[in-house]
Amino acid sequence: ELRVRFAPSPTGPFHIGGARSALFNWLLARKEGGKFILRIEDTDLERSTRESEENIKEALRWLGIDWDEGVDVGGPYGPYRQTERLGLYREYTDKLLAAGRAYHCYCSEEELEAERQELTAKGETPRYLGRCRSLTDADRARFAAEGRKATVRFKVPENRQIIFNDLVRGTVSFESNGIGDFVIVKSDGIPVYNYAVVLDDALMRVTHVIRAEEHLSNTPRQILVYQALGLPLPEFGHISLILGKDRTKMSKRHGATSVEQYRNLGYLPGALVNFLALLGWAPEGEEEIFSREELIEKFSLDRVAKNSAVFDVDKLNWLNAHYLRQAGPAVITELALPHLEAAGYIALPLKDEQRVWLEQAVAVVQEHISYAAQAVDHLAVFFKDEVTFESDEARAILRDADIPQVMAAFRDRLTALPAIDDAAVKGVLKGIVKEFKLGGNKVYMPVRVALTGQVHGPDLIRLIVLLGRERVLARMESTLA
Ligand code: GLU
Repeated sequence: ELRVRFAPSPTGPFHIGGARSALFNWLLARKEGGKFILRIEDTDLERSTRESEENIKEALRWLGIDWDEGVDVGGPYGPYRQTERLGLYREYTDKLLAAGRAYHCYCSEEELEAERQELTAKGETPRYLGRCRSLTDADRARFAAEGRKATVRFKVPENRQIIFNDLVRGTVSFESNGIGDFVIVKSDGIPVYNYAVVLDDALMRVTHVIRAEEHLSNTPRQILVYQALGLPLPEFGHISLILGKDRTKMSKRHGATSVEQYRNLGYLPGALVNFLALLGWAPEGEEEIFSREELIEKFSLDRVAKNSAVFDVDKLNWLNAHYLRQAGPAVITELALPHLEAAGYIALPLKDEQRVWLEQAVAVVQEHISYAAQAVDHLAVFFKDEVTFESDEARAILRDADIPQVMAAFRDRLTALPAIDDAAVKGVLKGIVKEFKLGGNKVYMPVRVALTGQVHGPDLIRLIVLLGRERVLARMESTLA
């Protein structure tokens, strides 16, 4: 049975890179009928928070990425939070110490720093040279009496080549000599990532470790620990970095980087899942729009690319626009509410008739909306009764010689209508075009400018109907004054 895991460190916002790793593992598990495990790697006590863990779980749920085993849901190999597994790690540390595969190190931070500087000055890779490798019991007692605290270091075998077949990158090899004996348990008794991750993946029977490329250089250390403990190795697959469009590592400079930010901006989870799936993976063919079910059916590791994935926000927007239009005005409206409230256009909660009206307005502009927050700009003309001219070009349109008669006719006929609806308003505008023998543009354009201050905008008839007679007349009076 295939068993994969997503193992985030809950130390901050949930980055889209993490979401992509989670998604690839999840797709693989669902495709192969395996298990997807959610493990929380919270051994960095200073930076880990429960709030961040909740945030990650909430984001996964929102994306529709559910887990079969892990925090909250439990499972046969729990607990699934590393700080709740300290006793388990201790057992293995004792085994490594007893077998001489690990040792206590009493070096102080200052001594280690001096060693690093010395090596760097000589042009060598800074690493631990093994000063505490063969301490006697007497040495240890002396250090302890001095009040020194011990870490546990893993004894890295010399002259070893560590070779593994990475499912994404092919054959990868490292030399053991550059590594240096590394700390596996800190002086406060907390294991470090490179150690805990091995025990957890082994004890949780993980068969495939699929994670970000930044962990590739950790893998040889982890393999050495597996070997020292006689634990079976999983398969490894390292998926490429996500770069911004300028080909530098994706960061805040490139815009929103966390799942929560995209959620708040009004992206749909299906669109984000679709987009994340294509960051480093592509099925055969040109098609780019895939439902979750299609992704599960098509996903395979052998089509995960070795080269870096580029985060193209325009593509995300294109995809999201597609999903929004499919979802329809009611959904877009719902997602836009907090943004419209923040802009001061509406007060929540809306009354039923306000919502009906708003959904109609959204329907008029929806094809221009890539994510719901953009509704604020596109709907501005529906809310701003104080018209400002966007340009001199717009203002000039109202200075044409025919304007006073055209506007007077429009005002009078609109006032005289028994009821305002699309057909009636259209009739009024067409009637004026005909009678005044003007081109359509000479009527529609000035009316638009008088109502919005702009030369472009949403469908004019819908705009007039949705604004209603009073607001239309009031706007005209102020702009034409
Ligand atoms: N906690 C590690 C991280 O957040 C997990 C790495 C791994 O998947 O092994 O990057």
